[in-house]
Order: sequence, then C-alpha cells, then structure tokens
Amino acid sequence: MKPTIRAIETEFLGERFRSRLEAKWARVFHALNIPFTFEPEGFELEEDGQVSRYLPDFWLSTFGAWVEIKPESPSERERKLARLLHQGHGAPVLVVCGVPGKHFIQAYVNGASHGELGFLFECQFCHVIEVFYLVAPYSDDEWMSVSHLCQCGNASPLSTPRLHRAYAEATGCRFERLPKNMRRALGAV
Ligand SMILES: [Zn+2]
Repeated sequence: MKPTIRAIETEFLGERFRSRLEAKWARVFHALNIPFTFEPEGFELEEDGQVSRYLPDFWLSTFGAWVEIKPESPSERERKLARLLHQGHGAPVLVVCGVPGKHFIQAYVNGASHGELGFLFECQFCHVIEVFYLVAPYSDDEWMSVSHLCQCGNASPLSTPRLHRAYAEATGCRFERLPKNMRRALGAV
C-alpha cells in the first residue's frame, strides 16, 4: 500500500494553519509587523473552458500581493494557478518555496520562475519591509519591487539584523543559542 503523508496543522495567533511551514511564515510576517490574512478567499479560475479552484495561502495587504507557500518547487499545475490568479485578479502572486531563514529563496512570480527571490528586504534608511524579486531568473543585478513602499529609494537586497531575528524567531531557533559572532552581528552582544 502506498504510504500517505499529511501536513500537521499548527495554531498561531488563533489561526489554524494547514502545515507547520505556513505557520512559520506567518510567524515571520508577525515578527516584521506585516499584516497577513490566511486563506481569505477561494477562486474559480477558468482557461480554455477548464475550471480550477484555487485557495491561495496568504493575502499581504501592505504589499497588495498573494503569497503561496510551498515546501519545494511548484508543479506545472500550481504555476498555472498562480498565473491565472494574477491574470484574473491583477495583484502579484508570489510562490515562495521552502523554510524561512535563507535570505534569498527560490520563488515564482505570477507562475514564472525568477530564480532566487529576495522576498523580504528591509530598507536600511527608512526601515520599511519590501518584497523584491529578480527581473530575469538567475541574473543578479536587476531587482524589481512588488510593493514600492520605500520612498527614499535606498531599499537594497541586503539582509538586516531585523530580518535575521524574524527568521530565527519563526523557525524556533533560540536566539541565545546562536554563535556569539552572529549575535554580535545582530546587535545583541
Ligand atoms: Zn527607504
């Protein structure tokens, strides 16, 4: 018999998430004061007479973007759903793959691969959190903002202590257990 696998439901801030991975990302958004709504709305998406149902994971209102969390690269069908949702709804649809913690993470924008997406960046001047992605997959010099929240024009794809902290918090990594040089880099020592 084929073994079955099921994600474990996890509760955070009174919300029940389908998987621990989604709950971890919710913790990241919470730690960074990014308002999120979990599965606010389902959609029927139609193309060539074929109707598919889609319930995206998160709506992030400050970015005006949908975020779908996947443990690994999305399938053809999942990429198609992201593209159709974007075409029908208008807002960007980001498929973010993997556990929070790496600053650059594999991601898809509206169903297309953009290589390693920075995803969450902090402007080191005005301190807003932005979503950035690479314009062309695996190019490393042309970044595009999804949210255009940084008005000072200084947001850059660099990691910051605030982001490190949020990732550490979300993944349950005890801050005190981080190596001393890392704690110093994060301004804690
Ligand atoms: Zn700024």
